[in-house]
Amino acid sequence: MASHAPRPPQDAPLGWADVAALTVLEHPLAGALLTRLRDRSTGPAEYRAITRRLGLLLVAEATRDLAVETDTVETPLETYHGSRLVRGLVAIPVLRAGLGLLDAVVDLYPDAVVGYLGMERDEITHLPRDYYAKLPPMANRRALVVDPMLATGGSGSAAVRYVKEAGADDITFMCVVAAPEGLARMQADHPDVPIVMAALDRELNDQAYILPGLGDFGDRLYGTP
Ligand code: URA
Repeated sequence: MASHAPRPPQDAPLGWADVAALTVLEHPLAGALLTRLRDRSTGPAEYRAITRRLGLLLVAEATRDLAVETDTVETPLETYHGSRLVRGLVAIPVLRAGLGLLDAVVDLYPDAVVGYLGMERDEITHLPRDYYAKLPPMANRRALVVDPMLATGGSGSAAVRYVKEAGADDITFMCVVAAPEGLARMQADHPDVPIVMAALDRELNDQAYILPGLGDFGDRLYGTP
């Protein structure tokens, strides 16, 4: 797995890079917002606001392939054959850091229903532990699993497995920063699940933090030490 962000193929839509089911957001605004998130001097209030703005870009990308059907309307001048969305959205933020991206989902999709998954990482074993789950019906909806840091991929993979077991058949995973190790784990466990990220970073350190990364996303979002 490359340890740097994949480059866009020749025919990629302007501003975006796609490699198989992995999409790295390539947009000047996304890059600038992510730099503010990485900056250790960015405090929680600014961090939350920037996360929401970056989230809007991520959500737009993560839902770019939602199915539509024809919707015909009358403009003041003539008949127009447009479109409407066929499937609704279930947003599933993985607690607690995923909550930082939830506003972006419901800003763009006010009709989205929301499920919550509580996954925490054991600080010694680094293995995921689920401690809370409340999911709405998944039928006929795109499930957007939202977890900002895809590090080892342990909790991301467990979250996606949980959502599959709850009946979801159309899942996209969305994160802010991914590590190569996390992507490899997700692709091994869930090759059917596309992943949308703002950046693919270099590696994990021996504490399973992403490098260069941005530290603990949840701590930075909520100002916890
Ligand atoms: N979770 C975080 O919040 N940051 C990391 O670098 C890895 C996991």
